[in-house]
Amino acid sequence: METDEIPSPGTLALTILFCMFCEDFTFHFSHRFLHWKPIYPYIHKLHHTYTSPIGIAAEYAHPVEFVLGNMMTSAMGPLLLGDKIHTLTVFAWMAVRVGETLDGHCGYDFSWSPYRLIPFSGSAEYHDFHHSANVGNYSSFFSIWDTVFGTNKDYFAHIEDRNKLEEAAKDARERRAKGSSSSLTASISNAETSSEESSGHPIDTKKTK
Ligand SMILES: [Zn+2]
Ligand SMILES: [Zn+2]
Repeated sequence: METDEIPSPGTLALTILFCMFCEDFTFHFSHRFLHWKPIYPYIHKLHHTYTSPIGIAAEYAHPVEFVLGNMMTSAMGPLLLGDKIHTLTVFAWMAVRVGETLDGHCGYDFSWSPYRLIPFSGSAEYHDFHHSANVGNYSSFFSIWDTVFGTNKDYFAHIEDRNKLEEAAKDARERRAKGSSSSLTASISNAETSSEESSGHPIDTKKTK
């Protein structure tokens, strides 16, 4: 492809996909490095000020993190492609990248988010767990490297526990609802029995109306 040619939609999509893989791979490892205990308090802790972030908090980072963890990782794909990537594609890629990090930090897991169409994608909930638990879920676009290195085990265990709790709460609610309706039936029948006993004949509901 000549770089002065406007890229076709197919070339644009494939180039952005390549940039996504490059970014995700380098972001995973740079993010893990930023969580390394000896350096974490001095750099990445600032980004973790927000335990339940909002979109704009995505860019709230120490300058070192901004360069190492955000800029360098996003630039990896375009740097590898060199003069094979069109300037327009670089702009489109930056929009995709910034959109993804805003989506991941916004606190809402929108089902209609175009980023959910990406196979093995993370989500706002996925990155929210990283901020609240401060462990695992280091990837950006995909959850592949987290799964390969087992760094999202805690997240999936948390989801499983939460689902079990929700199931148990639902069962308890259903049991309570059944219990109150059967105790209501029992109270009515008790009332009928005691009324029959006192009057000596069954209640004539038509007469009582
Ligand atoms: Zn982090
Ligand atoms: Zn974050």
